[in-house]
Amino acid sequence: MSRSMKEIMQEFAISQALNFAEGNPEENIPKLMALVDKLAPADWQPEARAAIRGAIEEKSNWYQLMLKIYELDPGVRKTFFQNFILNASLKWSGIRANVIKENNCNVPWAILLDPTSACNLRCTGCWAAEYGHQLNLSLSTIDSIICQGKEMGIHMYIYTGGEPMVRKKDLINLCEIHSDCVFLAFTNGTLIDEAFCQDMLRVKNFVPAISLEGFENANDSRRGEGIYKKVMDAMALLKSHKLPFGISTCYTSRNWEDVTSEEYFDLMIDNGALFTWFFHYMPVGNGAAMELLPTPEQREEIYHRIRAFRQTKPLFTMDFQNDAEYVGGCIAGGRNYLHINAKGDVEPCVFIHYSNANIHDCTLLEALKSPLFMAYHDNQPFNDNMLRPCPMLENPERIRQMVEMTGAVNTDYQDPESVEHLSEKCKSYAENWKPTAEKIWNGCKNCGGACSK
Ligand code: SF4
Repeated sequence: MSRSMKEIMQEFAISQALNFAEGNPEENIPKLMALVDKLAPADWQPEARAAIRGAIEEKSNWYQLMLKIYELDPGVRKTFFQNFILNASLKWSGIRANVIKENNCNVPWAILLDPTSACNLRCTGCWAAEYGHQLNLSLSTIDSIICQGKEMGIHMYIYTGGEPMVRKKDLINLCEIHSDCVFLAFTNGTLIDEAFCQDMLRVKNFVPAISLEGFENANDSRRGEGIYKKVMDAMALLKSHKLPFGISTCYTSRNWEDVTSEEYFDLMIDNGALFTWFFHYMPVGNGAAMELLPTPEQREEIYHRIRAFRQTKPLFTMDFQNDAEYVGGCIAGGRNYLHINAKGDVEPCVFIHYSNANIHDCTLLEALKSPLFMAYHDNQPFNDNMLRPCPMLENPERIRQMVEMTGAVNTDYQDPESVEHLSEKCKSYAENWKPTAEKIWNGCKNCGGACSK
């Protein structure tokens, strides 16, 4: 499929601009912005441009974050700009749009996949352990998924698991084969060593997101004795090699105060993290620890705290259950992403373990057109209130309807959970959260997070 002249010119202009900033970012970024303002039509991304201009003028936390990116290894940074901004986000978006139009189905921006269900740790409440420890996607299967994805314009691949780094040789191999893609891995960080850092410097397109659940005691009580220290060592190693990395934090009723504290934010920043993905605890599986679900009061406080730090800390954060307004609701079912587990089941979301398609039996496009994916496509967004985005957590009747209507089967082979069970157990959470969600959504939605309370 060919790309338009406009897209090619846009790519050329952006790559020239990024090259220009390389020389002396502190001096050249403001000049570059002035040039963009002069040349770009007034109606081209005025809000984003104003925000960037403001960040530069005020030397805000976002500007500090920009400069931190210029402290990274130059080769890694240039590859990241090329693969993430140009390939994953701009260059191939037209191809993706065409496939969506031609097939009337979702086509994701990113694919999450589990290279393995094996893990070297056994964390409390981790759904990955429920798949058993012997499933793997072969190298050729992962390669085929990526090749099919690239045909549809997808250049972002995110590994989860299991512990993806158990397969680190294959992961590096895939980075080399698909040097035009970005690879991110959710990892416990314990397998990051000097040799792997050298591999990351060589391939330049691999970014880890290390799991951290709070300070030492809280982290080790969930993940195991000594894991916190290993994570700190991994971060120090990555930082010393000027390699980019982020943090992945799951907030629960137990750790929420710690992981939304200033001390925790500073810990992540001081240790070199550029971004943090916050996840709300999801009660997946028959053995889910329901007591770990945050109360409405806790979730409201989490919402405000993360947004407040976004105004002051040089750290890019995403709060997956509270930031749906920025992405138009639930991003699963291939709308922005999908998940392929280590057995090959193509699931709408990493937390939704139901499917009617397996990548060993169908193409990626056929999976995107499978009944459960089409039910997502036809029903998104699941709620107009963007603080109630999920068909499981906040609208549990929706996941039940979709699974029953499509005949999707549970993909937890150790201890399958019926959709009735899943839906029933989420009901009281959904009902309790609704009044708070309505209050925040109706009262605060226009403040853009500028308030801290
Ligand atoms: S299904 Fe729920 S958890 Fe998954 S992306 Fe949608 S809103 Fe988020």
